[in-house]
Amino acid sequence: MAHTVVIGAGPVGLVAAMLLAAEGQRVTVLDRDLMDPRAEDVVASSAGGGRRQRPGVRQFGQPHILLPGGMRVLDRELPRAVAELGAIGGHPYNVISGAWGAGEVGAEQPGDTRFETLALRRPLVEAALLAAARETPGITLRRERVTGLLTAPKPPERDRPRVTGVVTADGATVPADLVVDASGRDTRLPALLEKQGARLAELPGTNGFRYYSRFFRSPDGSLPKPRRWPLTHHDSVSLITLPADRGTWSVTLVTSGRDQILRALGETAVWDRAAALYPEIRPWLDGEPLDGVTVMGGTATRRHELLRDDRPVVTGLLPVGDAWATTNPQFGMGLTMGFRQAELLRDQLRKLGTEDPAELVLAYDRATEDTLVPLWADSDAWDRHRLAEIDEETQGRTYRSDDPAWNLRNVLDAVRLRDPRLLRAVADVASLLRTPDEALAGTDLLTRVAEWSVGVPRHTEPGPARSRLLTALGAAGRE
Ligand SMILES: Cc1cc2nc3c(=O)[nH]c(=O)nc-3n(C[C@H](O)[C@H](O)[C@H](O)COP(=O)(O)OP(=O)(O)OC[C@H]3O[C@@H](n4cnc5c(N)ncnc54)[C@H](O)[C@@H]3O)c2cc1C
Repeated sequence: MAHTVVIGAGPVGLVAAMLLAAEGQRVTVLDRDLMDPRAEDVVASSAGGGRRQRPGVRQFGQPHILLPGGMRVLDRELPRAVAELGAIGGHPYNVISGAWGAGEVGAEQPGDTRFETLALRRPLVEAALLAAARETPGITLRRERVTGLLTAPKPPERDRPRVTGVVTADGATVPADLVVDASGRDTRLPALLEKQGARLAELPGTNGFRYYSRFFRSPDGSLPKPRRWPLTHHDSVSLITLPADRGTWSVTLVTSGRDQILRALGETAVWDRAAALYPEIRPWLDGEPLDGVTVMGGTATRRHELLRDDRPVVTGLLPVGDAWATTNPQFGMGLTMGFRQAELLRDQLRKLGTEDPAELVLAYDRATEDTLVPLWADSDAWDRHRLAEIDEETQGRTYRSDDPAWNLRNVLDAVRLRDPRLLRAVADVASLLRTPDEALAGTDLLTRVAEWSVGVPRHTEPGPARSRLLTALGAAGRE
């Protein structure tokens, strides 16, 4: 029976472990900071509203949504995980429910069930997946920090190392037929590989955005009415509103990582003043705050390449989830992309086993290139435009680009409520249920969108211009 070591008991590592164990593999999951699911459950119900920090996961305290695309992966593969997400308080949430009855969208339709997910705070997502993993035969979970890699002696004709296991902080070795790196966005594995003479090329994305989030709770467990769309863009600020478990929810203000003036949003009083300027989120501010503002910067995106000159850089080691690539958190794709990648990994292992490790890397790379790399590339292109747009807006100028993909996405933001089919096509793509080509196949929607796009403004929801925002924050004239 093959033995796989998974480094990291984050959401993607746990899903990968459960999928491989279901194939009859022996799986050892090592995490430097293994949680106790029951303790998370208790603390989430406490007055403080749960833990915000986890040493290996900087975004632990930030709001998360599991997109419907990711939820469908769990539905079809891991019903035990879905049951745990429900048992720990997951709130059923249909991501298009705020659009029902708005514009020309009309009422809920039978097929809309595909947009359902369970809303929870991030620590509880992990706690539920961990509880499911603990119940899965074939999985051993250990609290260990991985500090090194075991490699086979290099055959003279090959110039790449083959990983054969890991070394932990106490110096113990754990041999494996395959090592899966699921240690997240700050993975140390590329640095460890360099010591073995192998370099995973890193494709840099952007320097990213900065997230200023607050959590709220209602006294009676009720939640604010969903907005027509949970993510909206304004001049230099984007707004995200997400429901969660136990009558809690979150509001996030997103700025460019370069925006020094708006760093004042990290102060609770400043955040409150700024948020109140946006009418569309006012109902979401009407709750008992769980704490102050949780800030996260340093969200640079990047992607690792497994091949150089069409050959694997290393064998015996495959990265999944954030250890492979990070995308713009605004779109909430990280968990879903990671779950899908874990499925791809399982599929390739099912087909090929571990006997020919180079072929396994090649097949995994091809599958990832076909399905996930396009998502990463689209997200990266959007980030570059949006950051450039914010730069222009802070200078009081209007950003213009002739990139059709950026212009189409902006128009879709503005007109998606004009047609029930369009709203669902946009939601299918945003939920990672379908590709844009699949969502638009056989429709005349692009032609209609071109007609509707004439004269639509870039930002459709009312909100303050940047100059007014800065005045309200007491920062006018500092630009
Ligand atoms: C601000 C922000 C908001 C986000 N919002 C969303 C969202 O709404 N929806 C969404 O889908 N995604 C979101 N994401 C992305 C999401 O957080 C990640 O995609 C997800 O956490 C990736 O899971 P993972 O299991 O790959 O890695 P992680 O969650 O980072 O888990 C890595 C695990 O590895 C362990 N580890 C690290 N190093 C070692 C080591 N050396 N030895 C042993 N263990 C180790 C850590 O303790 C941790 O448990 C957001 C990201 C950010 C930054």
